[in-house]
Amino acid sequence: MNILVTGGAGYIGSHTCVSLIESGHTVTVMDNLCNSKVETIDKIELITGKKVTFYNIDVTNESEVDRIFSKHDFDAIIHFAGLKSVGESVSKPLDYYYNNLLGTIVVCRVSLKYGVKRFVFSSSATVYGDNESPFVETMKLLPAANPYGETKAMCERILMDMVKANSGYSVTLLRYFNPIGAHESGLIGELPNGIPNNLMPYITQVAKGKLEKLKIFGNDYPTADGTGVRDYIHVMDLAEGHVVAVEKMKDGLQIYNLGTGKGTSVLQLVNVFEEVNGIRVPYEITDRRPGDIAECYADAGKAESELGWKARQTIRDMVRDSWRFEQNL
Ligand code: NAD
Ligand code: UDP
Repeated sequence: MNILVTGGAGYIGSHTCVSLIESGHTVTVMDNLCNSKVETIDKIELITGKKVTFYNIDVTNESEVDRIFSKHDFDAIIHFAGLKSVGESVSKPLDYYYNNLLGTIVVCRVSLKYGVKRFVFSSSATVYGDNESPFVETMKLLPAANPYGETKAMCERILMDMVKANSGYSVTLLRYFNPIGAHESGLIGELPNGIPNNLMPYITQVAKGKLEKLKIFGNDYPTADGTGVRDYIHVMDLAEGHVVAVEKMKDGLQIYNLGTGKGTSVLQLVNVFEEVNGIRVPYEITDRRPGDIAECYADAGKAESELGWKARQTIRDMVRDSWRFEQNL
């Protein structure tokens, strides 16, 4: 298939481009590089040995997006482009609503105009809000704790309405859990701007000595060791999930969790990182981070039974690959 990947220079998008190309698809990337670097496109080409057509374009700019659609004949769109920092979304809510909602609306409008009928959307486990884990696709969504999460829930709603109104259209909402790890080459990985918000890039930067110590946000949660539990998934497993999802699209709306179904606590992740990589990660326990929930993990059964997709890599693989990427920087 000829696939448009918006946000394809970013963390999940770049790994997905590699998997798509290795599965025989042709990839065109649209990214405004607001949270990524153009060199990542070269690295995708280096890993795959294939050319990637790249456009430095903002997906909120309808005439520019239209211009690219008029030059290509896309079979499907995977829409990753968006802002993703929870904390920043609280201080800059309008930027988040503008970028994430408008970007999605523009890409949908143009896809309708050009008759591109397959649309895969990057959603997030955050749409489940304060539900109890494991999260199942059929759960009633609860309000997200921050504007970022709200943009994901609103985009889901927009896409549901669009697919209802346009027969023959296929939309797949993929709700990701916590992607970590990197491509085994160590050439691409997560490259956060400034001080990382997420746990894994913070751990690797502490291990490398770029940051002094990890702050563990609370050890008084009702979990086995008191620290927060998440469902970490290797970014290459997540990338594979996109390949399968786009290849197996059906008419109408589909929703899948992409997680492992297993929870890991902050302390467990730190311990495995230290053991596998033979390096210490100094840490201190601090207050809980506002908006965090105790536990978040997937019921991953639907993606397995309907798509035949299952995450394969272990936490040991994830920490090894994250550390390899950090060391290469
Ligand atoms: P990322 O920031 O690495 O990638 C997003 C890419 O989109 C970046 O390259 C950025 O430059 C680009 N972008 C942003 N706004 C744009 C715009 N208006 N026009 C063109 N390009 C734009 O983030 P990621 O971790 O790869 O996440 C990809 C998607 O998955 C996002 O929509 C994110 O919300 C969603 N998601 C991520 C996670 C996670 O933990 N990483 C979890 C759930 C969902
Ligand atoms: N966390 C932490 N210290 C950090 C960053 C995160 O203790 O510097 C914890 C956080 O409280 C949560 C887990 O690590 O329990 C995963 O957080 P992350 O921000 O990576 O993902 P999210 O919770 O937003 O899904």
